[in-house]
Amino acid sequence: MNSSEPSVSIRDVQHFAYCPHRWGLIRIGCDWSENVFVNKAKLLHGRADSGTSVSLRGKYIEHSVRVYNDEWDLFGVLDCLQFERDVHGIEIPKYGGKFRLTIVEYKPSRPKRESASFADRMQLLAQKLCADSVFQTDCAVCFYYGDIRKRVPVSFTAEDEDALKAIVREIRTCTESGAIPPVPKKQYCSGCSMKDICLPKIGERNA
Ligand code: SF4
Repeated sequence: MNSSEPSVSIRDVQHFAYCPHRWGLIRIGCDWSENVFVNKAKLLHGRADSGTSVSLRGKYIEHSVRVYNDEWDLFGVLDCLQFERDVHGIEIPKYGGKFRLTIVEYKPSRPKRESASFADRMQLLAQKLCADSVFQTDCAVCFYYGDIRKRVPVSFTAEDEDALKAIVREIRTCTESGAIPPVPKKQYCSGCSMKDICLPKIGERNA
């Protein structure tokens, strides 16, 4: 990573992976619109964004944990990081012992169709790269889906890392050029809070 290149936030990764055009409207065009999905996510994130730390049945749970990865020049905030005692884990001095770490990303819905979940997976992979770097360990990762009140563990492949690298590269390119990416072919728009802003421009879609 070249030090003159712009840092990329985990939130940027998620927006861009969901729809590069949406990312451009928000980050380059400074447009923002909220719908029921955005507001439901905010309500569910109310506790996750509180910056609190709680102890629960021998586990410690921290909310709004700031993380970064210098090698990728990524940064952001974790909804929730769980510390569970484990003799094979890493030393966490403030809790006095060794712990296994799990990143939990809250989602207000249920597991999504593949195209939408790709963005969430890229967001979670960016979180993991940052947390692994900060804590020098291999964090477990999972989504917590509010509609079904269930955790779903996630694992990543080398292809996922390649996909994230491409996204980070494109975000840097677009940030430097100030260009809003076009609407991708076969873009999945259901549930997008930017539809009212974006749809009049639908003619810009790639042929
Ligand atoms: S409406 Fe569709 S094309 Fe437009 S920003 Fe949202 S997801 Fe992208």
